[in-house]
Amino acid sequence: MKKHHIEILIPRQEVQQRIGELAKEICHFYRHNRSPKLVVIGLLRGSFMFMADLVRQLDLPIEIDFLTASSYGSNTESSRDVKILKDLDGEIYGKDVLIVEDIIDTGFTLNKVREILNLREPRSISICTLLDKPSRREVEVPVEWVGFAIPDEFVVGYGIDYAQHYRHLDYIAKVVLEE
Ligand code: 5GP
Repeated sequence: MKKHHIEILIPRQEVQQRIGELAKEICHFYRHNRSPKLVVIGLLRGSFMFMADLVRQLDLPIEIDFLTASSYGSNTESSRDVKILKDLDGEIYGKDVLIVEDIIDTGFTLNKVREILNLREPRSISICTLLDKPSRREVEVPVEWVGFAIPDEFVVGYGIDYAQHYRHLDYIAKVVLEE
């Protein structure tokens, strides 16, 4: 880890309020869609807090599963070579899939995950991300629900880490590198 400090970017109350709004939209969508079987898939580890807060507000019958894709490791640079490190436990064939992600940067991770899950022939795949850095996108990924669009900052907190630190914070902060 380089010498740094953190500054609050999105305070706890704003995060919580936005998650409430997202949950309402998602419930409305899947009710309207008459979804027979909805499985909500959290991408570990970054989405664990968002996932927990979101699903508690989904007033729908859902299954929950998790998937781990390779991430930044201890770097702050994205990798194009995305691999599945831990696959789902259950089947998704014929089900509606909602992928819950912490943050979309270049889009490589979600693009690859979407591609892999699509081969298993789910009824549908939708994506909900808490944070989005649209200015960093290198591959297009359709994203149905975005919590907050943020500028090109390296962020931590609310599940998101810097070399495994800061995941426990209940707000989003940006990392400011020091000389
Ligand atoms: P992408 O493949 O879209 O470039 O990157 C997505 C993944 O990169 C996210 O799931 C997250 O793990 C990581 N990531 C992207 N931006 C940030 C950031 O600002 N901070 C941290 N800690 N991870 C990030």
